Amino acid sequence: MAELELINVYKDYKLENKSKFTALTDINVSFEKGELVSIVGESGSGKSTLMNIIGGLDSDYTGQIKIDGVDLKSFKEKQLDDYRKKKIGFVFQSFNLIPHLSILDNVTIALTLSNVKESVKNAKAIDILTKLGLKDHIKKKPTQLSGGQKQRVAIARALINDPDIILADEPTGALDNETTTQILDILKDIADNENKLVIMVTHSEKVAKISSRIVEISDGKIIRDEKKSDYKKNPPKEKLIENVEQEESETADKSKKKSKEGHLSFYSALKLSFHNMWASKTKNILMAVGVSISLIALILMLSLGSGLTGYIDTLAQDYSNPNYVTISKSGYDRDGNGLEESANPMIPRMFETSEIEEIAGDLNNYLQSQNSDFQVITSGEEQNLTYGFSTVTMGMGYIYPYQPEVQPPQEGQGQEDTLAEETQVPGDEPSQQDGEMILYTYTTPPYYSEENLIAGTMSGMDEIMLSSAALEFLGLENAEDIENGDYYVTLSINMTYDNMLIRINKPVKVTAIIDVSVFSNMMVLYLSYDFLNTCVMEAQINEGALPTGIKPSLLFIETDSKDTTDLINNYISTNRKDLSGSVEEQLASMFSEMMSTFSIGLAIISSISLLVALIMILVVLYMSVSERTREIGVLKSIGARKKDIKLIFSTESLLVGLLSGLTGIILALAIGGILIVILTAVLGFAPISMMWYYFVIALVISVVISVIAGLYPASKAAKLDPVESLRHE
Ligand code: ADP
Ligand code: MG
Repeated sequence: MAELELINVYKDYKLENKSKFTALTDINVSFEKGELVSIVGESGSGKSTLMNIIGGLDSDYTGQIKIDGVDLKSFKEKQLDDYRKKKIGFVFQSFNLIPHLSILDNVTIALTLSNVKESVKNAKAIDILTKLGLKDHIKKKPTQLSGGQKQRVAIARALINDPDIILADEPTGALDNETTTQILDILKDIADNENKLVIMVTHSEKVAKISSRIVEISDGKIIRDEKKSDYKKNPPKEKLIENVEQEESETADKSKKKSKEGHLSFYSALKLSFHNMWASKTKNILMAVGVSISLIALILMLSLGSGLTGYIDTLAQDYSNPNYVTISKSGYDRDGNGLEESANPMIPRMFETSEIEEIAGDLNNYLQSQNSDFQVITSGEEQNLTYGFSTVTMGMGYIYPYQPEVQPPQEGQGQEDTLAEETQVPGDEPSQQDGEMILYTYTTPPYYSEENLIAGTMSGMDEIMLSSAALEFLGLENAEDIENGDYYVTLSINMTYDNMLIRINKPVKVTAIIDVSVFSNMMVLYLSYDFLNTCVMEAQINEGALPTGIKPSLLFIETDSKDTTDLINNYISTNRKDLSGSVEEQLASMFSEMMSTFSIGLAIISSISLLVALIMILVVLYMSVSERTREIGVLKSIGARKKDIKLIFSTESLLVGLLSGLTGIILALAIGGILIVILTAVLGFAPISMMWYYFVIALVISVVISVIAGLYPASKAAKLDPVESLRHE
């Protein structure tokens, strides 16, 4: 039985216009082991076509190709892969080594595809490479070798699985005379000493002369088949692949072992992908940085979101008292429509006495309906509703540093004096920048205590408390002056009130630095409601009006329990759209509203940027597939299954995902850290809370989008036609 037999083989190439081109016509030929066959013929006569069909790369033919008597057509896909892997060794004119792999890895690749142990496959490869004179080059990359050396590597790769047939398509076509002789000698040895069938395509009759048989093809037909009677075998030499056979013959049940042989392992695929990615590091790093931008944005936005929410939440908790309900006017009517007079934020929204009574009555009715024992009481001994004043700016409020050594504080002095006189320092005309500032004015809530102070004591009449920012602005460096009680400023407030200009202008003592948390960077002034009321009454008297005092813009209800507080707060938020809670509460609710809008924005931005990242990865992997078309062809010619190719490209996308994810995490940590430092320096706090799981989320997302992006390129790679891939320039 012939080793290889072709019976009535025809091959048609289908052309675009549905016509066909017959490349092989009625090929009938058979070959034996130990033959060194030269296929000769003009360019385009069909030699490569014949080789591809014999090599199992092209199954689109008619007729029979019998290997040891078995028709190739009867092979299933897996058997055909095995056939290419173990039965056939391909050698190409253009060497077709995989550029990003070392010489050793290029030779072992066929064994890698069978998941042969690292030590075993390396020993085999080194042995063959040594016999082919390449011992010193195993760590080099293909580009570092000469043409002859490359072709020897290709021969070593073809021999590694100890195939029975070596197919060499113009193996010396790209080589000079001297190296041609070397390569031919090796091929001749393979036929003579290894007893393999070597079929070699050549243009040169000179090359053909050394072979044992010449088959000439013309226009797809065999026109000559000449066995050389004068063929002289090479003298016996050490076998190139001796150890392989020894090892295998040691195994008693050889066939069983072969059928159990593994496939490309995930680890090997990872290694191959890593080598390839390493070969184009710059491209991959740039892509990873590109993809990581969307991950950085995601991590930072999540961190900022939770940082802000957490910050505001603790603030609302710290600065509102569970036993107090704080009520202010919301600027809407009871149906939730905006009120005209609320449009101007400079005008405080104050409560009339009748309104206060109405609110108390409404709340009491509600509390009664809820079987609560608590009652809001607006006057008398038991009064639990008290007044406060708070607004963004109360008219125009200013304070100036007071100069006690020039004008020591005297009761009531400020009222008569003008601002200029007040701040006059001999020889030093004060400018506005010397200390004038707009204030955010609040009356001290009834539940504020020394705990809310950074330094000093609670203020009373003719006394105020300032935020640390306000004090810093006035040039105060340390808190000692406050605690010593000798720091004075001039308080100056001009506001329109009851159609009258109320002017407050008096020296006051600063008794405390008050902790104003979220407003710590703002110029905030706290004073007692009674003091403010007295100031307003004095101003009214000065203007010749009735001293009615100030109307409250805040109502505080001291409740008996947190439950009652919650009950009232819930009622107000659902039934009294005209009312709202404390500044901190309002801020918190405003913030949670902002945060939910922010979250939607975040989700949209992230999705878009992740989609962009996905497309970017897809493009890069797709390009990688096109760039590596030939490599895919080579892998297929040495028996890589579709699955193996898919695995190689999928692991590459996995690596891309990991690389991008890790880049994103590192950069996000770095940028987040810098932001925290900057924000802490500028704002005094950094609303960034980076949770460890944000990084996990980013990494998972990165891997998932990369793997998804890799699906299409990987399946495209797997589906590439091996013959066309090998032709790919
Ligand atoms: P050789 O290797 O002898 O130079 P080939 O086997 O490569 O020739 O090609 C044989 C003939 O088949 C040539 O005329 C070539 O143009 C044609 N041919 C090869 N591949 C294709 C293809 N994919 N589609 C159409 N025609 C092809
Ligand atoms: Mg050819």
